[in-house]
Amino acid sequence: MRSDPTPTTRVLYLAGWGRSGSTLAESLLDQVPDLVGVGEIKFLWERGLQQNRRCSCGTPLRSCDFWVQVLKEAFGGIPGDAEAGRLDAASRRFRTRHLPGLLLRSAGPPDTEELRWYFGVLRRLYAAVAEVSGAKVVVDSSKFPSYLTALLRVPGLDLRVAHIVRDPRAVAYSWQRLKHDPDAPNGALMPRMHPGFTALYWSAWNLATERIARRAGLPYFRFRYEDLVADPAGTVRSVTRLSGVPEAELPLDGRGELLVRPTHQVSGNPVRFRSGAVPLRLDDEWTTRMPSRHRYLTGAVTVPLRHRYGYRDS
Ligand SMILES: [Zn+2]
Repeated sequence: MRSDPTPTTRVLYLAGWGRSGSTLAESLLDQVPDLVGVGEIKFLWERGLQQNRRCSCGTPLRSCDFWVQVLKEAFGGIPGDAEAGRLDAASRRFRTRHLPGLLLRSAGPPDTEELRWYFGVLRRLYAAVAEVSGAKVVVDSSKFPSYLTALLRVPGLDLRVAHIVRDPRAVAYSWQRLKHDPDAPNGALMPRMHPGFTALYWSAWNLATERIARRAGLPYFRFRYEDLVADPAGTVRSVTRLSGVPEAELPLDGRGELLVRPTHQVSGNPVRFRSGAVPLRLDDEWTTRMPSRHRYLTGAVTVPLRHRYGYRDS
């Protein structure tokens, strides 16, 4: 047997298209003692370090005790603006610009010294998150298929993919909502997108995620947002099994609320700022409020993947 002295860090990659419920899923997974949910690591350099946006604990990232400890463990100190900029630039080599390419081949920039440095940094970062949190598995909800292709090239990671999907009509409706973003500079709204584009992205992202995971032979589990809300304990158990750690009881109270402890998530949906009792209710406002032309457009564009995921015409 080959002896490998290199320690590995287990990373559960939470994949899926935006507004599919990944932030809620991450908050649930974070309740499992062996898992730690740290948000969208892809954005640590730009939104976290350069813009010093708030961690989900409410503290600006550069002052958050958890992240300060992680960054000291990984780098000996908090990277300055120039280094954070260099890391962000490296992460942008894995952008979604040519998503169709990801469906056809393992697209990715060639190996350069700069990228090898970047991969080394990521390796140290994930190891430091595990070390400081004491968790066995780091949950990264970056979601991007393109960033998953970057992680495939980081040495010392034991990668597993939990892929969340949601009815594309609900997703398209959510992308149309006017929603305040408490995280954005200058009190901006969350980005909006036309249902036609949302539907195209929904199909391409989900297909790309499946294909990248399959091609790389990664352990993979797909689950639906609707099932997570209907049966949080059962769904979290399945994802926990994929993570290879013992199952744990979720802190659910009798009213179907989850008692969420404060987390340290970088970026993500504003619901990450909630802690305490968080209601687990299906958000299905789209079924009554979505204009029918948007519903038909989204429904038509997302066939046949929508049918394969069990979302029927309605
Ligand atoms: Zn924090």
